[in-house]
Amino acid sequence: MKESQDNWPAGIKKTKQRESVLSVLEHAKKPLSAMEICSEVEKNDDSIWLSTVYRVLELFVKKGLVIKTNVMNNDMSIYELNRFKHKHYAVCIKCHKIIEMYNCPMDKFTPKLEDDDFHIIGHNLEIYGFCKDCDPKR
Ligand SMILES: [Zn+2]
Ligand SMILES: [Zn+2]
Repeated sequence: MKESQDNWPAGIKKTKQRESVLSVLEHAKKPLSAMEICSEVEKNDDSIWLSTVYRVLELFVKKGLVIKTNVMNNDMSIYELNRFKHKHYAVCIKCHKIIEMYNCPMDKFTPKLEDDDFHIIGHNLEIYGFCKDCDPKR
């Protein structure tokens, strides 16, 4: 073994392309679509097929390394590293910009559902609208 595997997650075979995708996600400041990840990898001078990016991402999602969120009525998926933080995103329906939310609007509903003998471990919420650049009312 010639290089250190310190930061490489256990149980996943290390390949050049998986490394490239993971490194893009590690440096991302927001969740990225597969297309954006693909072009970031190419910016780093590695060529990668979009279908390969999808395959790598599905593997990472299955291993719990990456969180996949569907937005735009499930038309688009965005991916981020699983940093075990609970977060929501709002999506602008015009420019598709993704805005991070700093609170969870579902927080107050959770206890009631728990009364009904159901153990909630998470939720998914889709929030959409216009960002400040696209808002027709501005
Ligand atoms: Zn917008
Ligand atoms: Zn939430």
